This record gives sequence, C-alpha cells and structure tokens, in this order.
Amino acid sequence: MNSPHPVSALTIAGSDSGGGAGIQADLKTFAAHRVHGLSAIAALTAQHTRGVTAVEVPPVEFLHAQVDACFADFDIGAVKLGMLATADVIHAVADALERHRPPHVVLDPVMVATSGAKLLRPDALDALRNRLLPLATLVTPNLPEAELLLGWEIANHDAMRRACEALLQRGARAVLLKGGHLADSGDVVDLLAHGAGIVEFRHARLQLEAHGTGCTLASAVAANLCRGLALDDACRAAGDYVNAALRGGYRPGRSDVVVLDHF
Ligand code: PLP
Repeated sequence: MNSPHPVSALTIAGSDSGGGAGIQADLKTFAAHRVHGLSAIAALTAQHTRGVTAVEVPPVEFLHAQVDACFADFDIGAVKLGMLATADVIHAVADALERHRPPHVVLDPVMVATSGAKLLRPDALDALRNRLLPLATLVTPNLPEAELLLGWEIANHDAMRRACEALLQRGARAVLLKGGHLADSGDVVDLLAHGAGIVEFRHARLQLEAHGTGCTLASAVAANLCRGLALDDACRAAGDYVNAALRGGYRPGRSDVVVLDHF
C-alpha cells in the first residue's frame, strides 16, 4: 500500500452517458494521473457521440450533500468545475467553495457542446461571471466561451491577449485561453495569463472531430496541481496529455467523433 491519505481531486460537473466528456472524462483523467478522483454530479446528460438527447438537473440540496460528504473525509487538493447548467447550481457551488476553501479551483466554463447542445442556460452567465470567476485559481475557456463571458469577438492572437487581460480583470487569478477555434490553419496556440505575464503553449493542429477535450484538459491541470506542480508546469503537462490522448483517440460510437485515450 502507498502512503495513507493521498491528496484527492474533486470534479463538480455533468455526467455524460456516452463516457467521452464530463464527469466520466474527469475521473479517467484523474486515474491516469494517479490521483484519487471524487465527483459531485451537478447535471445529468443523456448523450452519445452525435449529441445530447436530454438533460436533468438534480436538486441543489443533493449537490450540497455530495460536496459536503467529499470535504468531510478527503484531503482535497483541487476542485475542477465543469457543466453546471443553471444559475441556481452555480450559486450552490460558489457557496460550497466559499465554505470549504479548497487550495485550487479550475473552472472550465462549459456552455455549448461541440455537437451544438446548450449546456448552460443563458441566464446563468452573470452568475458564472460574478460568483465563480473570482473563486477560480484558473479559468479555461475556449474562444466561444471567452466571447460570451466578455461580450466581444476574439478573431486573432492580439484579441486573445486582450481577452486574457480582461478575464484577469474580472477576478480570475489565471486564465488558460484555448485557441483551437481560431480560423487559422497553423498550430493551435493556447495562452496562459497570470500576474507574471503570458506564456504560450503550441501544438500541431489535428484534423479530428473530438469530444471531451475541454473536460480532460481542465481535469489534467487539476490533477497536476494536486501533485504539487506549479501552474505553468501543470498547464503545459495537461496540454501535452490532451494532445497525446487525442492522437491515440478512438471512435466508440457510430459517428466519426473521437473520444480520448486515457489508457
Ligand atoms: N457533456 C458534458 C457533461 C460536458 O461537461 C461537456 C463539456 O464540458 C460536453 C458534453 C461537451 O464536450 P465536447 O464539447 O468536448 O463534445
């Protein structure tokens, strides 16, 4: 047996019945990083590789019960936030984080699935901006999510830098802005911005229709923070992990959509 009471990572997110994204991707990522994974299910999706067919949001009292049970027994090194669905859920999560004060909070501001399904009610955007950004150690938007958070278009690398600064001003302690959606055939460039400046991470663009990359990236950062890595190293290693998992990806459904390989 290894050392008693290793640090655990907690995901508060949505379940994906198709096993490619959400809680399922988060727990696979934690396991691949050899970090014990805890989960509090904020929303349930009926989903396959082609789309989301139904969403159910459990009562917030039950979400509190899950989160409180985790904090009552485990040494939690980082919390990863994914699909939170509604303003009520966001307020419940913010209340729980203010009560328990985990060392790190990685916020993946999940809004719309690659398939086009809406995973956050539009009236929940203000709650996400006002309650969760200030609690986040790191927020990991893709470009469409950053555009919705800020209310303006991000069409090039200069605009990405301005968006990072604007998200820092809104209260996040660090921003990992993912550039994959930029209309650009070159490398994918992600920017990590924090008080000490901006760091660039570059990967060759893969021509794949993939599912669960955002969840996996944020969970890998959370796992790396649990393992004691500094933020820059945690983000760089997480990006490399997603890239390798995509290259090894497979197609479990009847569509061309690729699910990441965590094995
Ligand atoms: N389903 C759930 C529960 C999610 O949390 C997410 C993304 O975070 C998705 C689906 C969408 O994943 P993707 O956009 O990678 O297909």
